[in-house]
Amino acid sequence: NEVLRLEGVGKTYARNGPAPVRVLDGLDLSVARGEVVALVAPSGAGKSTLLHIAGLLDTPDAGRVVLNGRDMTGLPDKARTEARRRDLGFVYQFHHLLPEFSALENIVLPQLANAVPARDARARAADLLDRVGLGARADHRPAELSGGEQQRVAFCRALANRPSLLLADEPTGNLDPATSDRVFGLLMALVRDTGLSALIATHNHQLAGRMDRVIRLNEEVA
Ligand code: ADP
Ligand code: ADP
Repeated sequence: NEVLRLEGVGKTYARNGPAPVRVLDGLDLSVARGEVVALVAPSGAGKSTLLHIAGLLDTPDAGRVVLNGRDMTGLPDKARTEARRRDLGFVYQFHHLLPEFSALENIVLPQLANAVPARDARARAADLLDRVGLGARADHRPAELSGGEQQRVAFCRALANRPSLLLADEPTGNLDPATSDRVFGLLMALVRDTGLSALIATHNHQLAGRMDRVIRLNEEVA
Protein backbone atom coordinates (compact mmCIF):
# COMPACT_ATOMS: atom_id res chain seq x y z
CA ASN A 1 0.00 0.00 0.00
CA GLU A 2 2.21 2.77 -1.34
CA VAL A 3 1.46 6.46 -1.56
CA LEU A 4 4.47 7.20 -3.72
CA ARG A 5 6.69 5.02 -5.87
CA LEU A 6 9.53 6.18 -8.09
CA GLU A 7 10.75 3.50 -10.50
CA GLY A 8 14.02 3.79 -12.37
CA VAL A 9 13.83 7.57 -12.33
CA GLY A 10 16.50 9.41 -14.29
CA LYS A 11 17.07 13.11 -14.84
CA THR A 12 19.73 14.82 -16.91
CA TYR A 13 20.19 18.56 -17.16
CA ALA A 14 21.36 19.29 -20.69
CA ARG A 15 22.54 22.87 -20.35
CA ASN A 16 24.57 22.67 -17.19
CA GLY A 17 28.05 23.73 -18.24
CA PRO A 18 30.02 22.07 -21.04
CA ALA A 19 28.56 18.57 -20.62
CA PRO A 20 25.08 17.32 -19.66
CA VAL A 21 24.85 16.31 -16.01
CA ARG A 22 23.05 13.12 -15.00
CA VAL A 23 21.59 14.10 -11.61
CA LEU A 24 19.38 11.04 -10.99
CA ASP A 25 20.01 7.63 -12.52
CA GLY A 26 17.78 4.57 -12.08
CA LEU A 27 16.41 5.81 -8.78
CA ASP A 28 13.88 3.56 -7.00
CA LEU A 29 12.09 4.85 -3.93
CA SER A 30 8.78 4.27 -2.23
CA VAL A 31 6.80 5.74 0.64
CA ALA A 32 4.18 3.49 2.27
CA ARG A 33 0.88 4.81 3.59
CA GLY A 34 1.45 6.41 6.99
CA GLU A 35 5.23 6.19 6.64
CA VAL A 36 7.56 9.12 7.34
CA VAL A 37 10.76 8.85 5.31
CA ALA A 38 13.88 10.99 5.69
CA LEU A 39 15.82 11.96 2.60
CA VAL A 40 19.43 12.69 3.46
CA ALA A 41 21.67 13.96 0.68
CA PRO A 42 24.79 16.07 0.39
CA SER A 43 24.34 19.40 -1.37
CA GLY A 44 24.21 18.94 -5.15
CA ALA A 45 23.17 15.29 -4.94
CA GLY A 46 19.81 16.00 -6.58
CA LYS A 47 17.55 16.26 -3.54
CA SER A 48 15.61 19.26 -4.90
CA THR A 49 15.34 17.61 -8.31
CA LEU A 50 13.95 14.47 -6.66
CA LEU A 51 11.42 16.45 -4.60
CA HIS A 52 10.32 18.40 -7.68
CA ILE A 53 9.79 15.16 -9.60
CA ALA A 54 7.92 13.55 -6.70
CA GLY A 55 5.90 16.78 -6.38
CA LEU A 56 4.89 16.65 -10.06
CA LEU A 57 6.56 20.01 -10.68
CA ASP A 58 9.14 18.47 -13.01
CA THR A 59 9.17 15.34 -15.17
CA PRO A 60 11.88 12.68 -15.21
CA ASP A 61 13.41 11.76 -18.56
CA ALA A 62 13.41 8.06 -17.60
CA GLY A 63 11.29 5.93 -15.29
CA ARG A 64 7.89 6.32 -13.67
CA VAL A 65 6.25 8.31 -10.87
CA VAL A 66 3.29 6.48 -9.31
CA LEU A 67 1.13 8.45 -6.88
CA ASN A 68 -1.58 6.56 -4.96
CA GLY A 69 -1.36 3.74 -7.48
CA ARG A 70 -1.78 6.03 -10.48
CA ASP A 71 1.04 6.37 -12.99
CA MET A 72 1.59 10.11 -13.37
CA THR A 73 4.18 9.76 -16.11
CA GLY A 74 3.16 11.49 -19.28
CA LEU A 75 -0.13 12.85 -17.96
CA PRO A 76 -1.02 16.32 -19.23
CA ASP A 77 -0.08 19.32 -17.03
CA LYS A 78 -3.70 19.88 -16.05
CA ALA A 79 -4.05 16.39 -14.55
CA ARG A 80 -0.72 16.76 -12.77
CA THR A 81 -1.71 20.13 -11.31
CA GLU A 82 -5.00 18.67 -10.10
CA ALA A 83 -3.21 15.73 -8.46
CA ARG A 84 -0.73 18.14 -6.89
CA ARG A 85 -3.46 20.27 -5.38
CA ARG A 86 -5.48 17.33 -4.13
CA ASP A 87 -2.84 14.84 -2.99
CA LEU A 88 0.33 16.76 -2.13
CA GLY A 89 1.37 19.22 0.55
CA PHE A 90 4.61 21.20 0.34
CA VAL A 91 6.83 22.73 3.00
CA TYR A 92 10.06 24.56 2.26
CA GLN A 93 12.94 25.95 4.30
CA PHE A 94 11.36 29.42 4.00
CA HIS A 95 7.67 29.68 4.89
CA HIS A 96 6.41 31.44 1.69
CA LEU A 97 3.31 32.68 3.53
CA LEU A 98 1.42 35.55 1.90
CA PRO A 99 2.50 38.64 3.89
CA GLU A 100 -0.75 40.61 3.58
CA PHE A 101 -2.92 37.80 4.97
CA SER A 102 -3.32 36.50 8.52
CA ALA A 103 -2.11 33.09 9.65
CA LEU A 104 -5.68 31.78 9.47
CA GLU A 105 -6.27 33.24 5.99
CA ASN A 106 -3.04 31.68 4.73
CA ILE A 107 -4.48 28.28 5.66
CA VAL A 108 -7.98 29.09 4.36
CA LEU A 109 -6.96 30.28 0.88
CA PRO A 110 -5.65 26.98 -0.55
CA GLN A 111 -8.88 25.33 0.61
CA LEU A 112 -11.01 27.91 -1.20
CA ALA A 113 -8.94 27.17 -4.33
CA ASN A 114 -10.08 23.54 -3.87
CA ALA A 115 -13.74 24.65 -3.57
CA VAL A 116 -14.04 23.95 0.17
CA PRO A 117 -16.89 26.09 1.63
CA ALA A 118 -15.50 29.14 3.50
CA ARG A 119 -16.99 28.14 6.85
CA ASP A 120 -15.46 24.65 6.71
CA ALA A 121 -12.14 26.08 5.55
CA ARG A 122 -12.00 28.46 8.53
CA ALA A 123 -12.89 25.70 10.98
CA ARG A 124 -10.20 23.44 9.53
CA ALA A 125 -7.62 26.26 9.66
CA ALA A 126 -8.49 27.10 13.28
CA ASP A 127 -8.22 23.44 14.29
CA LEU A 128 -4.82 23.07 12.63
CA LEU A 129 -3.52 26.23 14.32
CA ASP A 130 -4.71 24.91 17.69
CA ARG A 131 -2.83 21.67 17.14
CA VAL A 132 0.47 23.50 16.66
CA GLY A 133 -0.20 25.78 19.64
CA LEU A 134 -1.02 28.88 17.59
CA GLY A 135 -4.73 29.25 18.31
CA ALA A 136 -4.11 32.69 19.82
CA ARG A 137 -2.10 33.82 16.77
CA ALA A 138 -4.78 33.16 14.11
CA ASP A 139 -5.22 36.86 13.25
CA HIS A 140 -1.52 37.73 13.15
CA ARG A 141 0.25 38.40 9.90
CA PRO A 142 3.45 36.48 9.13
CA ALA A 143 5.64 39.51 9.98
CA GLU A 144 4.15 39.51 13.50
CA LEU A 145 5.21 35.90 14.11
CA SER A 146 8.58 34.39 15.04
CA GLY A 147 10.45 32.17 12.57
CA GLY A 148 9.30 29.03 14.35
CA GLU A 149 5.70 30.26 14.41
CA GLN A 150 5.80 31.14 10.70
CA GLN A 151 7.03 27.64 9.93
CA ARG A 152 4.25 26.12 12.06
CA VAL A 153 1.68 28.08 10.01
CA ALA A 154 3.34 26.80 6.83
CA PHE A 155 2.90 23.22 8.12
CA CYS A 156 -0.81 23.90 8.70
CA ARG A 157 -1.15 25.35 5.21
CA ALA A 158 0.52 22.25 3.71
CA LEU A 159 -2.02 20.04 5.49
CA ALA A 160 -5.04 22.26 4.81
CA ASN A 161 -6.37 20.23 1.89
CA ARG A 162 -5.78 16.87 3.58
CA PRO A 163 -3.08 15.68 1.17
CA SER A 164 -1.99 12.04 1.19
CA LEU A 165 1.71 12.93 0.98
CA LEU A 166 3.76 15.73 2.51
CA LEU A 167 6.94 16.74 0.67
CA ALA A 168 9.27 18.85 2.78
CA ASP A 169 12.64 20.37 1.93
CA GLU A 170 14.61 21.24 5.09
CA PRO A 171 11.40 22.27 6.86
CA THR A 172 13.23 23.56 9.95
CA GLY A 173 16.51 24.45 8.23
CA ASN A 174 16.09 28.18 8.87
CA LEU A 175 15.62 27.85 12.62
CA ASP A 176 18.15 27.75 15.44
CA PRO A 177 18.83 24.21 16.73
CA ALA A 178 16.57 24.36 19.81
CA THR A 179 13.64 25.88 17.89
CA SER A 180 14.21 23.47 15.01
CA ASP A 181 13.99 20.54 17.38
CA ARG A 182 10.77 21.75 18.98
CA VAL A 183 9.08 22.77 15.73
CA PHE A 184 10.09 19.51 14.07
CA GLY A 185 8.44 17.67 16.96
CA LEU A 186 5.21 19.57 16.28
CA LEU A 187 5.41 18.69 12.58
CA MET A 188 5.89 15.01 13.42
CA ALA A 189 2.94 15.07 15.85
CA LEU A 190 0.75 16.70 13.20
CA VAL A 191 1.81 14.15 10.58
CA ARG A 192 1.24 11.20 12.98
CA ASP A 193 -2.14 12.57 14.13
CA THR A 194 -3.45 12.81 10.61
CA GLY A 195 -1.93 9.52 9.37
CA LEU A 196 -0.14 11.49 6.67
CA SER A 197 2.79 10.02 4.71
CA ALA A 198 5.84 12.20 4.32
CA LEU A 199 9.14 12.49 2.48
CA ILE A 200 11.28 14.99 4.38
CA ALA A 201 14.70 16.13 3.19
CA THR A 202 17.07 17.14 5.96
CA HIS A 203 20.78 17.52 6.63
CA ASN A 204 20.13 16.96 10.32
CA HIS A 205 20.96 13.33 11.17
CA GLN A 206 19.29 13.61 14.56
CA LEU A 207 16.00 14.69 12.96
CA ALA A 208 16.39 11.97 10.30
CA GLY A 209 16.73 9.43 13.12
CA ARG A 210 13.26 10.37 14.40
CA MET A 211 11.61 9.25 11.16
CA ASP A 212 10.59 5.69 10.19
CA ARG A 213 13.25 5.17 7.55
CA VAL A 214 16.21 7.03 6.10
CA ILE A 215 16.98 7.13 2.37
CA ARG A 216 20.46 8.33 1.44
CA LEU A 217 20.93 9.85 -1.97
CA ASN A 218 24.22 9.74 -3.91
CA GLU A 219 26.40 9.98 -0.84
CA GLU A 220 29.44 9.11 -2.93
CA VAL A 221 28.94 12.30 -4.98
CA ALA A 222 29.98 14.37 -1.98
P1 ADP B 1 20.41 19.44 -4.21
O1 ADP B 1 19.03 19.90 -3.93
O2 ADP B 1 20.70 18.05 -3.70
O3 ADP B 1 21.46 20.40 -3.80
P2 ADP B 1 19.69 19.83 -7.01
O4 ADP B 1 18.66 18.84 -7.36
O5 ADP B 1 19.27 21.23 -6.77
O6 ADP B 1 20.56 19.26 -5.80
O7 ADP B 1 20.78 19.87 -8.17
C1 ADP B 1 21.56 18.73 -8.53
C2 ADP B 1 22.49 19.11 -9.68
O8 ADP B 1 21.74 19.48 -10.83
C3 ADP B 1 23.37 20.30 -9.38
O9 ADP B 1 24.64 20.05 -9.98
C4 ADP B 1 22.69 21.46 -10.07
O10 ADP B 1 23.62 22.44 -10.44
C5 ADP B 1 22.03 20.79 -11.25
N1 ADP B 1 20.78 21.46 -11.63
C6 ADP B 1 19.69 21.59 -10.86
N2 ADP B 1 18.70 22.22 -11.53
C7 ADP B 1 19.18 22.51 -12.76
C8 ADP B 1 18.64 23.14 -13.93
N3 ADP B 1 17.39 23.61 -13.95
N4 ADP B 1 19.43 23.24 -15.02
C9 ADP B 1 20.68 22.76 -15.00
N5 ADP B 1 21.25 22.16 -13.94
C10 ADP B 1 20.51 22.02 -12.83
P1 ADP C 1 -1.82 27.70 -9.22
O1 ADP C 1 -0.69 28.71 -9.38
O2 ADP C 1 -2.83 27.79 -10.30
O3 ADP C 1 -2.41 27.69 -7.84
P2 ADP C 1 0.28 25.70 -9.17
O4 ADP C 1 0.45 24.49 -10.02
O5 ADP C 1 1.26 26.80 -9.35
O6 ADP C 1 -1.20 26.22 -9.41
O7 ADP C 1 0.26 25.30 -7.64
C1 ADP C 1 -0.17 24.05 -7.18
C2 ADP C 1 0.64 23.69 -5.95
O8 ADP C 1 2.00 23.44 -6.32
C3 ADP C 1 0.67 24.77 -4.89
O9 ADP C 1 0.53 24.14 -3.64
C4 ADP C 1 2.03 25.40 -5.03
O10 ADP C 1 2.52 25.81 -3.76
C5 ADP C 1 2.88 24.27 -5.58
N1 ADP C 1 3.89 24.83 -6.51
C6 ADP C 1 3.66 25.42 -7.69
N2 ADP C 1 4.80 25.77 -8.31
C7 ADP C 1 5.80 25.39 -7.49
C8 ADP C 1 7.23 25.46 -7.56
N3 ADP C 1 7.89 25.99 -8.58
N4 ADP C 1 7.94 24.96 -6.55
C9 ADP C 1 7.30 24.41 -5.53
N5 ADP C 1 5.98 24.30 -5.38
C10 ADP C 1 5.22 24.79 -6.34
